[in-house]
Amino acid sequence: MRCSTFKFNGLMRSHEHRHPESGIEIAAIFKAKGIIKERLSKAETKLSNFILNFLNNCAPPCSCVLCAASCKSSALCPACLEKLPFLNAELCPQCALPSNDSGLCGACLSHPPAFDFSYAALIYAPPITELIIAAKFSGQWSLLPTLGQLLLQRVQAAPKPDFILPMPLHPSRLAERGYNQAFELAKPIALQLQRPIQFCLERKINTEHQARLSQTERHKNMRLAFYTQHNLAGKHIAIVDDVMTSGSSLHAAAKCLKQAGAARVDAWVLARAL
Ligand SMILES: [Zn+2]
Ligand SMILES: [Zn+2]
Repeated sequence: MRCSTFKFNGLMRSHEHRHPESGIEIAAIFKAKGIIKERLSKAETKLSNFILNFLNNCAPPCSCVLCAASCKSSALCPACLEKLPFLNAELCPQCALPSNDSGLCGACLSHPPAFDFSYAALIYAPPITELIIAAKFSGQWSLLPTLGQLLLQRVQAAPKPDFILPMPLHPSRLAERGYNQAFELAKPIALQLQRPIQFCLERKINTEHQARLSQTERHKNMRLAFYTQHNLAGKHIAIVDDVMTSGSSLHAAAKCLKQAGAARVDAWVLARAL
């Protein structure tokens, strides 16, 4: 009895103090186990959230994002696709703004932009505005392949470029968003037209955050916004972008490409602000 009590007490003491083989304090082992368990459960939660987000973003939607009708291969049902504000007017070939007889508009005649031709699929108006905002700022990038298909329809008959260049994002913006919407739009187009995608342009200045600058400073920023170290002699390049508003980003990008030798630069944009 005395002996067994001694053994029991000895066992208890070894649990309370040191592991018999490693000599590590038992309390420290339990503490470490607790920390590992807690960290593991946090990692598991993060992992399951990541998988859910991934599935949410990758799996084709089973209902139209606009009217909730069933549709399995696209984010929009055929009825909603048909009602989108397609840009069907007679357009200036250089800047894609409406013009008489599809001739060059007054602005392009007096101050031509650095890009040569513009192809715009839609008018930047509801519900395209909301869809682009959701795709860019709410992480709904699963909309972009459907929107890319719409741009593909527009550029299918356009002269084929040597390569497609998705409008680059500033690295800080790319890190914040996690994806470049122009690249996502360009993927189905490149695949279908069998043209390569090349990233030959860098964005040095984040021009999305310059609302507080004067107009002169904005123009200066835009002039210096892009950089390339590639020799683009004789290349025909199509820049893919989501929206063209004033066209100043596309102009600055095209100017940089032309200075590097590009022979022709086209703007392929999903939506045009009129
Ligand atoms: Zn619908
Ligand atoms: Zn024009």
